[in-house]
Amino acid sequence: MVFTRKSPGRWLLVTCAADRAFRSLRACFLLSAKLGYSPLASDFTMQRDNYQQLVETFFQWDQPAIVTILEELLSAAAAGEADQSMAIMSQNYETAQANPEIHVLPGNLKDARDAIFPFFWGTDGWNNPLHLENVRGPANHASLIGAFACLLKNPNLCTDRYSQRSNELEVKAITALANLIFYHTQDPWGVFTIGGTISNFYGAKIGVERVVPGAMQAGLGGQRVVGICSAASHYSNQTIAGWLGIGTQQLLQIPTDENLAMRVDVLEQRLTELYRDQTKVAYVVATFGTTDGFGIDDLASIREVLDRVSREYQQPAPQLHVDAAVGWALTFLADYAIQENPLELSDRMKNIVERVQRHCAGFRHVDSVTIDFHKMGRGHYPSSAFIVNRRQDLKYLSRDVADTPYFSEADSRRDPALFTLECSRPALGPYIVMASLNGIGLTGWRMLVARSLELAERLKQGLEQFDFCRVLNRHTTGPSVNWWVLPQGRQASAIYDRLLAGELPEDERQRYFGEVRRLHQKREKVMDPKLDAHLGFTTNYGFRPHGIEIPAWKAVFFNPRTTDEIVDRILFSIEELI
Ligand SMILES: *Cc1c(COP(=O)(O)O)cnc(C)c1O
Repeated sequence: MVFTRKSPGRWLLVTCAADRAFRSLRACFLLSAKLGYSPLASDFTMQRDNYQQLVETFFQWDQPAIVTILEELLSAAAAGEADQSMAIMSQNYETAQANPEIHVLPGNLKDARDAIFPFFWGTDGWNNPLHLENVRGPANHASLIGAFACLLKNPNLCTDRYSQRSNELEVKAITALANLIFYHTQDPWGVFTIGGTISNFYGAKIGVERVVPGAMQAGLGGQRVVGICSAASHYSNQTIAGWLGIGTQQLLQIPTDENLAMRVDVLEQRLTELYRDQTKVAYVVATFGTTDGFGIDDLASIREVLDRVSREYQQPAPQLHVDAAVGWALTFLADYAIQENPLELSDRMKNIVERVQRHCAGFRHVDSVTIDFHKMGRGHYPSSAFIVNRRQDLKYLSRDVADTPYFSEADSRRDPALFTLECSRPALGPYIVMASLNGIGLTGWRMLVARSLELAERLKQGLEQFDFCRVLNRHTTGPSVNWWVLPQGRQASAIYDRLLAGELPEDERQRYFGEVRRLHQKREKVMDPKLDAHLGFTTNYGFRPHGIEIPAWKAVFFNPRTTDEIVDRILFSIEELI
């Protein structure tokens, strides 16, 4: 690919072509000599045959050779999955750095296979339905087809010159997701990024430009600029505040209520204080589905507060960005016909879906959103998207063609490089998303999401039967469950109520929290890895009454193959334990 249009080499070629009209090669030599070039030597000495062999092996399309190796890899992956008793191999970090060997002689595709195979074999695909410890599940096979197609063409989404129709696919995928999220949005736009962190970064950056116009060029000029999130928000917001240059200390955390939703009354109070102090408030990151407990912020109320208070103090309204990295997939249920109930959901589930729909309606009020398709979309990494509700808001990120010299032909109407943080961008996201959305279909997605909610509800209900357990996120509508397990005889809910009321002395609290952790560790030791699910543990699930961080056991239902029996077995294993 030629980036510099006026390279001397190209000029020379053009000149030679003109000279051919005079059928005078000599003239060309003369001309090039005049320009200071000598004709290329013809006795180019590199081993021609070996070179030819190299090119044939690695750059010519040898379909049988490629298919053979793909089949071998697929078989190995299937074998690993079929035998769930097989332990995952342990890492060998000690010599990974000491032996970064590179073969000396050119090999073939099998050498490529062998170079990665031990690590491929030793890596868990998270396909096991007993994996419940975090927000990651198996990737779906429609996504695999999409990702594979993308790798074969290897488009670069920086400008449409390097991606052709793949750029069109990005527009389509973003619009499809925007329609799910914002309902009937007029003019959405967005891009795929390498992760939720980067998608959140875009939202925060728009906010900074809103309150410090021209910060992209002139910087913050020593002004105090703050961002706001909830105490249960993802740690990536800290990363972003640091990298943006406003500083991690300028990211203010608003406490949450018991359901892990930002306290809007405290937000209003804080915002008023900040404006009184003449502080610039660039953005509020609301969370739609906190990583541990699936708390959902009240988006409509946050919008109302931001608009009203900023108007009162004559400040630009902060960017309202929603981190829906985990929670966005609930929007598949946003217009599920509860009355007709085609999926035959139980009454309890219909009630949950109704609450989901109320939460989803909040998206209409926000400026931008982060979606991780690689989480509840069960897509391959990376397939994260940043989407704005109104395309004109991208003006806060855009640069001139003059700032992106080798995209001199770039057109701001369709070339993302003029506003993206990244230059080269993989097209995996659009391929993964469109293949998954259309392979599985809306009804399929509704079934997958509803089933996750059903499994979480089953576990919550089961745990509630035990006096020594307390479900901490009882009323969040998501696929995750956070809870305490205490020794037999303890009244978990009474202890929790005293904690909330501020009546639990510190030493008692430490004792109970220690018990919650030790029982989790004990289960890890005695569990049967062939039958018992792997559960997660968090030292702080997000709700912090009186500033106290609360530990919890954790299960996330992302794997569609997890069964009722697996959930019941969790309950059994807890009863056995204590
Ligand atoms: C996972 C997560 C992120 C970060 O996303 P990555 O894709 O891992 O960078 C941000 N916010 C929330 C709520 C998350 O769960």
